[in-house]
Amino acid sequence: MRAPFLNSRLQGLGATIFATMSQLAADTGSINLGQGFPDTDGPEEIKAAAIRAIEEGHNQYPPGPGIPQLRAAVARHQLDYWGLDLDPASEVLVTAGATEAIAAAMLSLCEIGDEVIAFEPFYDAYLAAAAMAGARLVPVRLQAPNWEFDPEELRRAVSPRTRAIMLNSPHNPTGKVFSPSELVLLAELCQEHDLIAITDEVYEHMIFSGRHVPIATLDEMARRTLTISSAAKTYSFTGWKIGWATGPAPLVAAVRTAKQFLTYVNGAPFQVAVAYALNEGRRFTDLVVPTISEQRRMLADGLTKAGFEVMGGDGTYFLTTDISGVTDLDAKDFCMELASKAGVVAVPSSVFYLEPRAGEKLVRWTFCKRREVIAEAVERLGSLA
Ligand code: PMP
Ligand code: GLN
Repeated sequence: MRAPFLNSRLQGLGATIFATMSQLAADTGSINLGQGFPDTDGPEEIKAAAIRAIEEGHNQYPPGPGIPQLRAAVARHQLDYWGLDLDPASEVLVTAGATEAIAAAMLSLCEIGDEVIAFEPFYDAYLAAAAMAGARLVPVRLQAPNWEFDPEELRRAVSPRTRAIMLNSPHNPTGKVFSPSELVLLAELCQEHDLIAITDEVYEHMIFSGRHVPIATLDEMARRTLTISSAAKTYSFTGWKIGWATGPAPLVAAVRTAKQFLTYVNGAPFQVAVAYALNEGRRFTDLVVPTISEQRRMLADGLTKAGFEVMGGDGTYFLTTDISGVTDLDAKDFCMELASKAGVVAVPSSVFYLEPRAGEKLVRWTFCKRREVIAEAVERLGSLA
């Protein structure tokens, strides 16, 4: 048989780092500050809504674009929080998490050979989705420790093949929240070069200072922006995989074309439950930050005490550290050793760079774990010094 089996577009992608690190945590009995998923479920009432939905018979294929009440709830959310006015029928698409929306966006909006600009370090799914679409990811570096980018580098990254800019704010892994002036710059570039903005806002409700500004709200941007978000982080149900893409009807229709042949539809009862959660508005979203602020502070303090330079951003549930003060190892080796020696798992940020050496001293930690878990992790890290 002809080998290798993995086609050339996907070669080099390997296993996702998050699954790998969670497996390492399981194998070594370590505390898992690697993969970003909470160790407590979201609100009981939302769970009860899902159980009720199953009992009431929401168990067959839902409508292709998502159940009408969820599309309406997403549209209302976008209006209430961000002032974005959407037609639920044509401008909202429910997807299998933000992940599917990202993949469907790349698959439907890019021609083979197109380029997509993304800020590096970047969330792993962007590179994979671009690869599956036959597109090329062109990185623009966010510079530690403030995670600013050079506007000239951004301008240079645009070529005649550029189709889209992939923006993620609040940003995984750095926690950066893009500033209004940075967003203006991006918007100007999109207009000047007729680019689509694909924006991943799954951490839109996880901001510890500053505020979230969807790029779709900037002048002239609504008509060229596909906004992606998800219920996973906001409501702490990462396993439900209910996400959505919103934007102008032609963009959403394009993404729907790909989505319908990826999963067709997904998560019927969970769609009902997420519609319930969204319709409750701030009652649930206002819980997000208070629920994890203390864990954030505990982890930041603990890491600092253990000798790491913490370069926390203003959003997400991740902190990034420079490990130079603690070890001569590179991030990957350090994380392997950390698991076996200290019983703590974190993610080497080198995996978020096309050229891993650029992130070889950076490690990402999540604080979306119970306080006693963070306390224990911090104690273990303290013993490293
Ligand atoms: N985008 C970013 C930046 C993420 O961190 C994640 C992980 N939750 C996703 C997308 C995927 O979201 P979902 O679980 O809804 O597919
Ligand atoms: N978004 C999560 C993280 O960054 C993980 C989700 C996943 O494993 N795909 O850790």
